[in-house]
Amino acid sequence: MSEHQIVVIGASFAGLTVSHNLLKDIIPAIPKQKFKVVQVAPSDQFYFKIAAPRVLINPQSLPLEKALIDFKKTFSGYSAEQYQFIKASATSIDPATKTVKLSNESSVKYDSLVICSGTYFDNDLWSTARGEEPLKAAIKDLHEKLPKAETIVIGGGGAAGTETAGELGDLYGSKKDITLYSGTSQLLNNLNNKAVGKDAEQRLLKQGIKVQHNIQITSHRSEGGKEVLQLSNGETKTVDVYIGAVGDRPSTSFVPKEWLDDKNRVLTDPQTLRLSVDGVRGVYVYGTAASYSNGSIADVMFAKKAILETLKNDLAGNEPAPRTKNVYKKITSDMQFVPVGSTQGVGIAFGWKVPSFMVKMAKSKDFMIGNASKVVAGNS
Ligand SMILES: Cc1cc2nc3c(=O)[nH]c(=O)nc-3n(C[C@H](O)[C@H](O)[C@H](O)COP(=O)(O)OP(=O)(O)OC[C@H]3O[C@@H](n4cnc5c(N)ncnc54)[C@H](O)[C@@H]3O)c2cc1C
Repeated sequence: MSEHQIVVIGASFAGLTVSHNLLKDIIPAIPKQKFKVVQVAPSDQFYFKIAAPRVLINPQSLPLEKALIDFKKTFSGYSAEQYQFIKASATSIDPATKTVKLSNESSVKYDSLVICSGTYFDNDLWSTARGEEPLKAAIKDLHEKLPKAETIVIGGGGAAGTETAGELGDLYGSKKDITLYSGTSQLLNNLNNKAVGKDAEQRLLKQGIKVQHNIQITSHRSEGGKEVLQLSNGETKTVDVYIGAVGDRPSTSFVPKEWLDDKNRVLTDPQTLRLSVDGVRGVYVYGTAASYSNGSIADVMFAKKAILETLKNDLAGNEPAPRTKNVYKKITSDMQFVPVGSTQGVGIAFGWKVPSFMVKMAKSKDFMIGNASKVVAGNS
């Protein structure tokens, strides 16, 4: 019996979900075919980045060890013929030979390919896209500098920047000079309901955080132990600590250009999560690297049934016929819970604004860290 190799690129919310479910349910249900799952990622640790703002600012409350978890042991029940993890980055894909080239100078062949490479920021604080060592080093550096810092700037008024400012407000308030530059006209500008961002700003102001709009940090450099920031209004600002939370972009530089949309996300059928490129079969895209995603975890969690149904169908050798079952229906209304420190927050679910106490209970108190072990085990 010839072996069918499924290569999964990425090992985070999307990649771990796919590998676990392939091995647990989908592959055992197709006994006539031998399969092997090969997972490729630059880190063998899963980073529960949803909790990053607290890990970065308040490690006494939430240490990195709780948010950065070795996932290899969750695959220890499978033999080397069933599952292999390769610690490397994908550097290119050759669709003609069905080969993925890797950063360790090797390559891996695929019969089916699942791209789950997510997104990355300019700096190493928010993801494992460059491996876990740069992430650990960046966090260690921040932890050393923060207690001594007198002036702190956060760049980016999305959820990551707003939450980080809230953590700083909780811990230091007006004892330090802390400024959040939203980069746009208001906080949480991606939401249709603008009242949510305004609410977050009021809460930050009460904590003692300064909020500045319509100014971007265009470049920054370290000089004499300080951070020199170039602002889009022409000013230069020198501070003790700069935390950049801007520029979350798809990690897809290894994907053929013809497979990408104008935002460098992989062209994906939004209902089945198959690659949406004429003439290419056996390639799937799941999570924030995909064109169907707006970057939220909802597009991973709620699309899970669709990707698993597609893989089950295609791996069993069925033709990709029009689908009626487990089609992904994207939620288009606002969905976001944003802690502003540990005791309050702002939020919106299915377009409805959620009161602060509900955000506190659902997320602010511990950033949902209990879910990290569920993701690692493939049970999210
Ligand atoms: C600070 C922060 C807070 C967030 N909070 C929320 C929230 O509250 N609610 C919400 O809905 N969403 C939130 N998000 C977004 C959420 O984290 C993403 O939706 C989620 O991480 C997407 O999962 P993913 O598996 O698609 O990609 P990622 O989590 O980005 O994982 C990508 C994986 O691919 C690997 N990889 C990258 N490049 C390569 C390569 N070239 N080769 C091989 N492997 C590669 C990475 O190492 C990683 O394993 C937050 C994001 C951040 C940064």
